[in-house]
Amino acid sequence: MTSSIVLDGIAELTTNDPELGTLRDAAIVLNGDRVAWVGPSRQAPAADFSLGVVGAAVLPGFVDSHAHLVFAGDRSAEFAARMAGEPYTGGGIRTTVAATRAADDDTLRRGVARLVREAQRQGTTTIEIKSGYGLTVADEERSLRVAREYTDETTFLGAHVVPAGADPDAYTALVCDGMLAACAPHARWVDVFCERGAFDADQSEAVLRAGIAAGLGARIHANQLGPGPGVRLAVELGAASADHCTYLSTSDIEALSTSDTVATLLPGAEFATRSPYPDARALLDAGVTVALATDCNPGSSYTTSMPLCVALAVREMRMTPAEALWAATAGGAKALRRTDIGHLGVGARADLVVLDAPSAVFLAYRPGVPLVKGVVRNGELAWQR
Ligand SMILES: [Zn+2]
Repeated sequence: MTSSIVLDGIAELTTNDPELGTLRDAAIVLNGDRVAWVGPSRQAPAADFSLGVVGAAVLPGFVDSHAHLVFAGDRSAEFAARMAGEPYTGGGIRTTVAATRAADDDTLRRGVARLVREAQRQGTTTIEIKSGYGLTVADEERSLRVAREYTDETTFLGAHVVPAGADPDAYTALVCDGMLAACAPHARWVDVFCERGAFDADQSEAVLRAGIAAGLGARIHANQLGPGPGVRLAVELGAASADHCTYLSTSDIEALSTSDTVATLLPGAEFATRSPYPDARALLDAGVTVALATDCNPGSSYTTSMPLCVALAVREMRMTPAEALWAATAGGAKALRRTDIGHLGVGARADLVVLDAPSAVFLAYRPGVPLVKGVVRNGELAWQR
């Protein structure tokens, strides 16, 4: 027996459904874990329960399609040093790798649970979680096992960096062979950090092709720190998403615009590393599908806040509030190749956010303010302030 719930008196309902658009004085009816009806408030059918949301904006739950949540420790000292302008000479990702390897499963589990809860309170209803701080067969495999307890969108990122002391080609071969075999049963996606100092074009292609052959979908960390082959490779291999996209050539943008590959922008990383933001306008004006995600990780973007990413996209990347909201919901869904989330059309998954504000514009207009008043996930009230 599923029960139905009606939310009525909605001031502004963003559906991301091309037929329905954005409605005023609207209602939405959820039946079980699905959206059953959307329309004017006065025509709303009766339901088992009613949730008064008079004067509130309601939007699809945020889809955070890029997060690194399985780790131990933090890197606040590295952040403070970077912000003080000191040249940072610490171990970066390798610092977190050492702490993660030393942590037991329960410590990792508690860390992921805390961050997933934190993300949910800010409106995230779907989150992708990557491995990548283990870098051994056993540590990558257990990172994905832990991630799988919290999301279906798990990503094998054994090719995050080459571990200290390892030979890059030998490590790449391990990632493509024994590590992939151990990790693929717990993962939906394969990812690689294609960047100078991490994995080059040939190594990245080998990792993604091996993952695809093992039945995983491809995504890639591309063109974050400088121009490079990542975006071209993503399009050639039919990757679901190319993430970061901070340094793009016109041919990269052209390739993305004629592909199914989403450009996922991660403004939290530029914010926390005081770096130039990606050119979102060039992508949008070329017709590229753009997503926004947090890149939550302890080194370069320690935020779980999709509202922060929306505000940064609007203020720093010249996206309109409507474009940023779409990118943080429907864009994220496209980056995960999901049709059931990121919108509130009839039949969509009943994942939504109620704001303590009359319009979704307030997400960027009132940055840093906890505007999320309620979160419904799978048709159930997951959190309420
Ligand atoms: Zn990342």
